[in-house]
Amino acid sequence: MRIILIGPPGAGKGTQCQRLIDLLKVPHLSTGEMLRAAVKAGTPEGLQAALAMNEGKLVPDPLIVGMVTRRLEARDCRDGCLLDGFPRTLPQAEILDDLLERRAMSVDGVIELAVPRDELIRRMLARKRDDDDPAIFARRIASFEEQTAPLLEYYDRQGKLACIDGLGTADEIFERVKVAVTRFERATKGR
Ligand code: AMP
Repeated sequence: MRIILIGPPGAGKGTQCQRLIDLLKVPHLSTGEMLRAAVKAGTPEGLQAALAMNEGKLVPDPLIVGMVTRRLEARDCRDGCLLDGFPRTLPQAEILDDLLERRAMSVDGVIELAVPRDELIRRMLARKRDDDDPAIFARRIASFEEQTAPLLEYYDRQGKLACIDGLGTADEIFERVKVAVTRFERATKGR
């Protein structure tokens, strides 16, 4: 299964991703984590990414696409993966479809973890991480709303989107995630 998990910053994606990779037994491809590792290692890609990340902006497409392509081509991703943080924009979604198609692969399903903006701000204020400067956090939410909404429409038109209520306990949310995965499995068999 090749699944994408999409949600605004602070939606609880990390928790659900962890549970999903345990369930599906596929690698977790988090572009945020890959980028943070590159920044920490001080690689040329990391240095370039840090410029955008420090301002709460998206890093340039060629950089992120290069990283994801290398990862998708790795042996452990042959039977599937969980994409987290990529694609983030419509052009990235189109690039991904193209990339997968050329390798006779496709996206099986997309899960949107929907959480209202007020709740995201409340959670951010309650947890306070290093990159949780309120102004930067607000910019990340705005960037999500502007750039990711067209992406959801794109997958909805393909019949691949499952929008899940991101309010409730981690267990309750994961039950909804599992229902979506079962739906994707049925749809994939029918394709
Ligand atoms: P995340 O942990 O997914 O919120 O990602 C942290 C930061 O990494 C984002 O604020 C962006 O600057 C950058 N980033 C992660 N994924 C992408 C992507 N698909 N395209 C562009 N920038 C990204």
